[in-house]
Amino acid sequence: MTKITVAKGDGIGPEIMDATLEIILAAGAKLEIDEIEVGEKVYLAGNTSGIAPESWDVIRKNKIFLKAPITTPQGGGYKSLNVTTRKFLGLYANVRPCKSLHPFVKTKHPVMDIVIVRENEEDLYAGIEHQQTDEVVQCLKLISRPGCEKIVRYAFEYAKQQNRKKVTCFTKDNIMKQTDGLFHQVFDEIAKEYPEIENEHWIIDIGAAKMADTPEAFDVIVMPNLYGDVLSDVAAQITGSVGLAGSANIGEECSMFEAIHGSAPRRAGQNVANPSGLLQGAIMMLNHIGETAVAEKVQNAWLKTLEDGIHTYDIFKEGTSKQKVGTKEFAKAVIANLGKKPTILKSVTYANDAALNLPKYKRKPMGKKELVGVDLFVHWDGTDPNELAAKVKIIESGGITLSMITNRGIKVWPEGFKETFCTDHWRCRFKPNEGVEINKSNIIELLKNALNEKIDTIKTENLYTFDGKAGYSLGQGQ
Ligand code: NAD
Repeated sequence: MTKITVAKGDGIGPEIMDATLEIILAAGAKLEIDEIEVGEKVYLAGNTSGIAPESWDVIRKNKIFLKAPITTPQGGGYKSLNVTTRKFLGLYANVRPCKSLHPFVKTKHPVMDIVIVRENEEDLYAGIEHQQTDEVVQCLKLISRPGCEKIVRYAFEYAKQQNRKKVTCFTKDNIMKQTDGLFHQVFDEIAKEYPEIENEHWIIDIGAAKMADTPEAFDVIVMPNLYGDVLSDVAAQITGSVGLAGSANIGEECSMFEAIHGSAPRRAGQNVANPSGLLQGAIMMLNHIGETAVAEKVQNAWLKTLEDGIHTYDIFKEGTSKQKVGTKEFAKAVIANLGKKPTILKSVTYANDAALNLPKYKRKPMGKKELVGVDLFVHWDGTDPNELAAKVKIIESGGITLSMITNRGIKVWPEGFKETFCTDHWRCRFKPNEGVEINKSNIIELLKNALNEKIDTIKTENLYTFDGKAGYSLGQGQ
């Protein structure tokens, strides 16, 4: 018996959860269910995170969480429960298999069978945002070595376990050389440990275009959080319907399983929703907890039901489909097919699909970190970079001098282009002159001088080298 936490969620959530539980329990899943309330009611009761503190205790105690979609109320102040859960529980890997079910579900990509492995905790989803000037806001993109190592290793271990042939990495490291550069570098390092699995890297833009056009060229694709968020929906949609895909959110301690779609409030309470997405999440959960035989039985019965043409409204097509059914009737049809296998669609065998046991991240010895300069960000509403340079040069001291000014990353001083559009957000880079060293007191001195000169500094970023390698980007055009 495995004790799991279940949340029935909002909108169509309760209906698809009831259908899913009915199917997996009928198939013989040995589960004890601990139900908690999350979502709209909890939000509207004044809990801005959508979950009560005691519910966290239940989730953390049971470790396995099956969650139906929830409605995040409109308006400010409500935090996404999904993002909070993933981050609080350290659910670093989001796994979304996207397979077409041709000819039973209409798709332009009949042989598509890919798995998106999305990093789930960091990147722009750290949610660290600031307004710095009248005209400029920023969002910090944080990428860590442990974050990259964990997700890339998960992708390769998953490929190995599932007998998949290739892992592809998508990044934009031609532009983001530090952040996406690290993700790509870690991918190359870890790929070497798996010589039996093919590996490749695509720049995300052309990679995404290729995936949408020729998904059969890919197998497992691993990527940072934001790209994975967008592309896993694209991948699910082009199999035929987002309503058919489930996802697993895996951490070292806890895991959460869900459908990829939302709570479809307009369809709620009408017995029309397709429970397949949540059922796919539940099948991943059953595999995760070692109930492999039950997972296999449910998946084969589900494939057989789709093959029999018993379809909910979202995938119903005259000609292909035979019977349009509601949520409950669909569940009954799957239960009636338990023990049967599809004949045209490929049946599944889950020989060895239990939870992956990955080694813990090991921190590497610290590198030699040297301060080599500082970027001072300035709020200034002028337009001529030469004028700003003249003002800022007054604060130079101790052989630490202005070497460059950029505006939104583009070098505008020295030798800028008059055509470059400038906002009120300027980065002034200070470097020590030849033979001079810079330390933190120099930076404080620069800031003091700026204060005296009424220069509005909004933040500083220290420039470091790590083992002699620059840990910062150049200005565009530098
Ligand atoms: P949605 O996924 O709920 O609906 C998009 C479209 O797909 C709608 O036309 C809907 O009727 C249809 N649809 C979705 N699931 C279906 C199913 N199982 N069967 C049949 N049709 C289905 O997206 P939305 O309308 O943008 O969002 C609605 C709410 O869901 C919002 O409050 C949003 O915040 C929330 N949401 C929650 C999650 C989650 O909890 N994981 C994910 C996405 C959106």
